[in-house]
Amino acid sequence: MKRIIISDQTDERNSDYLKDFSQLLGTADEIVICHSSDDVIQILDECSEKNIKMTIQGAMTGICGGAVPDGGCVVNMSEMNGITGMAYYDADNEFHIKVQPGLTLKELNDGILSRSMNTALWSSTDAEAYDKFCSSTKKYFPPDPTETLASIGGMVACDASGACSFKYGSTRKFVEGIKIVTLQSGCASEQCDDQTRVRAKEVHIKRGQYKYEDINNIFGNTSGLLPGLNHKNSELKDVAGIYYDNEMDLIDLFIGCEGLFGVITEIELKLTEAPEIKMGLMLFLGKNHKIVELVNWLRNEIVPLPISTVRLKPVAIEYFDKNTLDTLNRFRDSKRDIGVLPEIDDIHQGGIYLEFHLDDEELLEDLMTQIFDSLSYFGINQEEQWLALEPSDFERLKKFRHAVPECVNILIADQKAIEPEINKVGTDMAVPGIYLKDVLNMYQNDITDRNLKAIIFGHIGDNHLHVNLIPEDLGTLKSSLDLVMSWADQIIAWRGTVTAEHGIGKQKKELFKRMMSQHDLDSMDLLKKIIEPRGLINQGTLLD
Ligand SMILES: Cc1cc2nc3c(=O)[nH]c(=O)nc-3n(C[C@H](O)[C@H](O)[C@H](O)COP(=O)(O)OP(=O)(O)OC[C@H]3O[C@@H](n4cnc5c(N)ncnc54)[C@H](O)[C@@H]3O)c2cc1C
Repeated sequence: MKRIIISDQTDERNSDYLKDFSQLLGTADEIVICHSSDDVIQILDECSEKNIKMTIQGAMTGICGGAVPDGGCVVNMSEMNGITGMAYYDADNEFHIKVQPGLTLKELNDGILSRSMNTALWSSTDAEAYDKFCSSTKKYFPPDPTETLASIGGMVACDASGACSFKYGSTRKFVEGIKIVTLQSGCASEQCDDQTRVRAKEVHIKRGQYKYEDINNIFGNTSGLLPGLNHKNSELKDVAGIYYDNEMDLIDLFIGCEGLFGVITEIELKLTEAPEIKMGLMLFLGKNHKIVELVNWLRNEIVPLPISTVRLKPVAIEYFDKNTLDTLNRFRDSKRDIGVLPEIDDIHQGGIYLEFHLDDEELLEDLMTQIFDSLSYFGINQEEQWLALEPSDFERLKKFRHAVPECVNILIADQKAIEPEINKVGTDMAVPGIYLKDVLNMYQNDITDRNLKAIIFGHIGDNHLHVNLIPEDLGTLKSSLDLVMSWADQIIAWRGTVTAEHGIGKQKKELFKRMMSQHDLDSMDLLKKIIEPRGLINQGTLLD
């Protein structure tokens, strides 16, 4: 392990460990960069003995400050980043890949695609599975939260999703096993001997191995009290709070809990069959477009339309409003990633990106014909579309999508240079499908009424849009913050969520408390106490 003692909080050399993409700036007394499970166990034991709080970090690409430390010790996992093995399951003809938490999504995808993994330290069974993998058809790990520098540990902790989660689901669906180091219950006092003191311990949990109630045995919960209600609306894309349910597999408790229970030290991920053909299509909206009808048509929902049902469900349906397109145009000369694409014509009122995965050329042609025949009905401009079929086309479109939040950050940084108190005010809320039109109208009307600057984009297929409000002074900062609270209240009333993919972290606790009942909050507190009774790990993230 590598240890850095921080004596000067303003020392720029440590700043990467004190901030993520939330713009929160933290403080820490020490940064510990772990290289093995033993390192993690050692540092957790040490912190427990000295009663020091800890903040777990992956790649620091989080958007809500979950990994930003608030004093104490940073447990950074970014250098524990190997691919440690592979398994093959004959019955399902399925490959699983075993990785350390600091591996980035890019490194994982490169490894899967290039099939050039270093197996020197793997067991013979894992190396055999790898040989089989190398001669099998192409495989694929679908979760893609746009930022490919995110770590797999962070993605599991946040249950990250992204554009293609519309079809494939979030990270949770691909997690088959985890190892997690927790500080387990016992006597915390200095007087206790080694047998009884709270000690760090690594637990290995595989999907299908334990049920929820096995918490009692594994974590020594002698009280028998275990929260039993699930607060989730299963039809909604939602990562707000800890996911628990009487019926669930125990592994699901640790996915999306934002690191509240311990440090994930290994992950086993299921791979799926890669599609033969990928087709990406960027369409541009005309003045009288019917975006919500288009989305419903693509989802095969409530469509008594004068056109036939779409022949294949897309894997991604993404939306960009007019301000997003205008902003991208504005940054064309200064941001190379945007400059690789054509300039967007000013007549377009927004854009919609669709992606399809298929195995059959004929179906592709058929699908294209059907979509192009429907463009005029949905009010889509017919003169311009961007089509992606080759990996290089997808790479360019990916850069374009990644550039959107980056441009927002530049706009905010410009405002911040004038008024340091200014911060981005971004939302991550989702609603049930029946409220998609209402939520779009609500955002657009409120932004216009208050004369605010905003960029709206995101995962419209999941009824999940990110509104980025860009305050220009302290007055507009306040009205932006007030607006988000009023949107949250309405969205909660519609049984939506205040966070569909970014999590709560340290920044969205106020919204979280509005969404959860006191019973939900007490249940999550109780779970935290059962599994990590000292409350030293990720203190202040998600729960108070
Ligand atoms: C440009 C951009 C676009 C993005 N788009 C999306 C998107 O479309 N969808 C989406 O879901 N997210 C998106 N994100 C957010 C982000 O990439 C994800 O939340 C990611 O999962 C965080 O991974 P990380 O390694 O950076 O975690 P960090 O930011 O380091 O940590 C996030 C949380 O996970 C915990 N954690 C990290 N590692 C571990 C571990 N080993 N064990 C236990 N807990 C751990 C931390 O304590 C913290 O609470 C985007 C981010 C950026 C910058």
